[in-house]
Amino acid sequence: MASKWVYLFSEVDEAEAYAGDWDGVRGLLGGKGANLADMTRLGVPVPPGFTVTTEACNAYLEAGERFPDGLWEQLQAALVAVERDTGKKFGDPDNPLLVSCRSGAKFSMPGMMDTILDIGLNDVVAEGMIRLTDNARFVWDAYRRLVQMFGSVVLDVPDEVFEAVISGRRRQTGVTSDADLEAEDWQRITHKFKEIVRTYTGEEFPQEPMEQLRMATEAVFKSWNGKRAVDYRNAANIAHDLGTAVNIVTMVFGNMGDSSATGVAMSRNASDGRNEIEGDYLVNAQGEDVVAGIRQTQPISDLATGMPEIYAEFSDIAKRLEQHYRNMQDMEFTVERGKLWILQTRNGKRTAQAEVRIAAEMVEEGLITKEEAVSRVSPGQVDFFLHPQLDPEARKGATLLATGLNVSPGAAVGAVAFDADTAERWAKEDKRKVIMVRPETKPDDVHGMLAAQGVVTSRGGRTSHAALVARQFGKPAVVGVAEIEIDLEAREMHVEGGLVIKEGEFISIDGTLGEVYQGKLPTVVPDMNDPYLTKVLAWADEIRRLGVRANADYPRDAERARAYGAQGLGLVRTEHMFFETERLPLVQQMIMARNVTERVEALDQLLPLQRSDFAGLFRAMESLPVIIRLIDPPLHEFLPSHDELVSDLADLKLRLQHADNMAALDELLEQITTKQRFLERVVALREENPMLGTRGVRLGILIPELTQMQVRAIFEAACECKKDGVDVRPEVMIPLTTHVNELRVQQSSLENVARRVMEEQGVQVEYMFGTMIEIPRAALTADEMAKVAQFFSFGTNDLTQTTLGISRDDAESGFLVQYAKRGILPDNPFATIDENGVGKLVRMAVELGRSSRANLEIGICGEHGGDPRTIDFCHRTGLDYVSCSPFRVPIARLAAAHAALKHRE
Ligand code: PEP
Ligand code: MG
Repeated sequence: MASKWVYLFSEVDEAEAYAGDWDGVRGLLGGKGANLADMTRLGVPVPPGFTVTTEACNAYLEAGERFPDGLWEQLQAALVAVERDTGKKFGDPDNPLLVSCRSGAKFSMPGMMDTILDIGLNDVVAEGMIRLTDNARFVWDAYRRLVQMFGSVVLDVPDEVFEAVISGRRRQTGVTSDADLEAEDWQRITHKFKEIVRTYTGEEFPQEPMEQLRMATEAVFKSWNGKRAVDYRNAANIAHDLGTAVNIVTMVFGNMGDSSATGVAMSRNASDGRNEIEGDYLVNAQGEDVVAGIRQTQPISDLATGMPEIYAEFSDIAKRLEQHYRNMQDMEFTVERGKLWILQTRNGKRTAQAEVRIAAEMVEEGLITKEEAVSRVSPGQVDFFLHPQLDPEARKGATLLATGLNVSPGAAVGAVAFDADTAERWAKEDKRKVIMVRPETKPDDVHGMLAAQGVVTSRGGRTSHAALVARQFGKPAVVGVAEIEIDLEAREMHVEGGLVIKEGEFISIDGTLGEVYQGKLPTVVPDMNDPYLTKVLAWADEIRRLGVRANADYPRDAERARAYGAQGLGLVRTEHMFFETERLPLVQQMIMARNVTERVEALDQLLPLQRSDFAGLFRAMESLPVIIRLIDPPLHEFLPSHDELVSDLADLKLRLQHADNMAALDELLEQITTKQRFLERVVALREENPMLGTRGVRLGILIPELTQMQVRAIFEAACECKKDGVDVRPEVMIPLTTHVNELRVQQSSLENVARRVMEEQGVQVEYMFGTMIEIPRAALTADEMAKVAQFFSFGTNDLTQTTLGISRDDAESGFLVQYAKRGILPDNPFATIDENGVGKLVRMAVELGRSSRANLEIGICGEHGGDPRTIDFCHRTGLDYVSCSPFRVPIARLAAAHAALKHRE
C-alpha cells in the first residue's frame, strides 16, 4: 500500500492508529499539526487544513529533494477536501481560498523555521478579492505579504530589500506607521516587490497557486536543514533526524476591519506563573504584526472590554485546552469579522519561576499528580532560583537607564555588544561578559544570545523572539525598551535624557523587574524561599530514595545547606580551616617543627580552634550526621612556594649588602634564616606528583600527632555539644586509603583518643569510623575495607583522577578541552561520572563492601554528587546518599526524585 503522507485535521484518529500513541502522532504530524488536529477533534474552532507528515519531509530530503510517490496527489486531494469544508476554491477569483504554509516539528523551535501566508493570491485573485471585500487596502497588503514571505523564504531574496521598499514608501508619503499606508501604497509596494523578485531570480513571481503551494512546501522541507534550524537544534539538544511537518491551513484574517483582531496569549502568566491569561493582541492586524512588535500591542485584558464575547469564548477555550493538555498553553488566535479562530496551541514556554508555580498549583487544582509536578521541573530550573540578582543596595545608587518588559528573570552584567557575532566573539575569544543589545532579535541572532549573559531589545513584546528564546535558555532579558535608541552605525545607544552608551561599555540588567542600569552592578544570590519551589521540593523529598547531604566546612555553609534541605554533612574538609589567616602560621609551625615536642606545641594551639570549628558544625547540624574527614592535602600546600622563597631570598640578600645599620642588618639576617628554613623544608617535602604523594591517610600515619589532635578536637567538641543537649552524630573519615592496614592503624589511634576524651569528659558519644574510596585498589578490596570501615564515601574526584590516570588539576585546562570538542570522551569525567570505568569500580565496591558489612553506609562526596546524571547512577547503584555543595542541594533533591521516578518498578 502506498504511504499516507497527508492527514486532514479531521483525520487525527487515523494518524493515531498509525502512529501508535500521542507521542507518535506528534512525531508524525509535528507538535503544531498534532495539536491543530487534536483541537479539531475537541471542537475548538480551527480553520480547516491538513498536515504533510515529517515522514514525507525525511523522504523528500533523502531522495535529494524530490517529493515521494503519491505525496503531490494526496496533497491535491486534501486541498479539495478543505475547499469542500470552507465552500471556497483555491485560485478562484470569485470565491478564493487562501492558505498558509507553516513548518511544525515534533519539538517547538520558535522562529527557527519558515512560514508563508496568503498562498493562492495572484494578480487575478487579488482583483477578485477586491471586488468581493470592497477592501483594496486589505487585499494589497495581503498580496505584498505573500510576495515578501515567498520571496525571502522560497526564493532567498534578502528581507531587508523588501523592508527598504516599505520604509521608503513611508518616507515618501510622510507617515510613520505601516497602519497609515493606504491601498494605493500597498498596491505600488506589491508591484515593486514583484519587480524585486524578477530582478533577483530572473523569473516572474509565480502566478499559478498550485505552483506557489508546491514551492512553499518544498521550502519548508528544506528549511529543516537550514543553518539557523541546525544551530537551534544543537543548542536545544533536539535530534536532527526528526524532520518537520508542513501545515497547510485556511487563511483567516485579523486585518479585515475593527471587528477583526489577532493575538497571542498564554493560559497563565509565563513570567511568574500566575493563573491568569496573559498576552497581547492588535485590532485589525495580522499575526506577524503582534510577534514582530512593530505596532504597540494591547494587553489581552483589554479584549475583555473591547470584544467581551470573544474574550469570554477565548478564556473558555484556554481553560479547556489546559484541562485537555494538563499544561499551560500558548495560543495564537485570530478574530475575523467577529468570529474567533484558534490557529495554534502548544505547551507554553515559561520561566523557571513560572514552571515551578504552575506545577505546584496544577497539583492543587487536581490537574496533575505530585509526581508529574516534580518531573516537570528540571534541575536547571531549580538552579535558576540560586541565580544572581542585582544587589538591592547597589541598585539604589545606580543610574537607571531605562525600563522595558521583564521577560526573563535574573540579573546579568556585561559589556554592550550590538550584534550577535560581536557578542559571540567577545564572549568566546576574549572571555568577556557581554550583554547583547539589539533593536529586536531574529533567529539568526541566537548564537549571540547564547554567548551573552543577557539580552536587551528596544522593540518587541513578551512573545517576541527575544523573549521566547531568552526564557527558554534562562538568559535574563529586558525587551521593548522604548527609551533607548540604538545607532548600529555609530555603535552606540542613546538613552532618553541624553546619555550615550558606547559599544563595549558596561551595563547591568534585571530581567525580573525589566530594568537596565549603567555600569557594573554587584549581584547577589537570592534566597531559595519561593513557596512554590518549597512545595515541589517537598514532594521530591517524598519521592526520592537517595539521601542528600552537603559538603561544607564552616557553620554558615552548614546552616545554608540545612536550609536548602541537606540531611547532614557528607564531607567536612578539615584542612580548609587551616588556611585561615590566624591559623596558617600555627600550621606552618607544626610543619616546620624540628621534633615532636615542637610539633605538639603547635598542635596544642590549633586544637581549641578546630574544636570550636567542629562544635559549630555539630550545632548547625544538630541530630544529623556530620562526616569529618581528617587532613588530606600534601603539606607543601600550606607553605610558600619554592619559587617564591628563592626569589624572596635573593631579594633579602641584596638588601643585606646595602644595610646601613646594625638593627636593619639583624632584622634582615633573621628573615633570611627563617626563609632559608622554609626553603629547606619545602625542598624536603618536594614531590614530583604531590597529588599521588604524601597526602591523605599517609600523612596521618607519618604524623600521628596530627591525627590525634584532630580526633581529640572532634570528640571534645562532640562531648561539649552533647553536654549542652545537642544531639551529635559524628562520623570520622579517613582519606585516600589504599590498603586496609592503613585503616587499622588509624582506627586504633582514633579509638584510643576517643576513649580517653570521653572518659575525661564523662560523656559517651556514638560515632562511626569510615573511609573514602578514592583509589582503585580501595574499590577493588572493598570487602576487606568494609571489615574495618563502617561507612564508605566515594571521593570521585580522586577516583576519576586515579582510574583514568588524568591529573585533576591540569586536565580541564589542557587536553580534556580537545577531547570534549572532538567527542573522544563523551563527557567531562570530572563533571559526570564515567559510568563504564569509574562507575564500574563504584558498583564493584558497593557490592563487595556490603558483602562483608550488610549495613555499610555508602555515599559519594566528589563533585559528581551534585550532577543530575551522576545522581541517577547513584540511585541505580544503591548508594544511601549523595553529598554536594550547599548550592547544589536543592538540585540534588530534585534529581534524586527524578531518578526514583524514572527507575520506578
Ligand atoms: C574527592 O576526591 O572526590 C574528594 C571529595 O576529596 P577531595 O576533592 O578533597 O580530594
Ligand atoms: Mg579526594
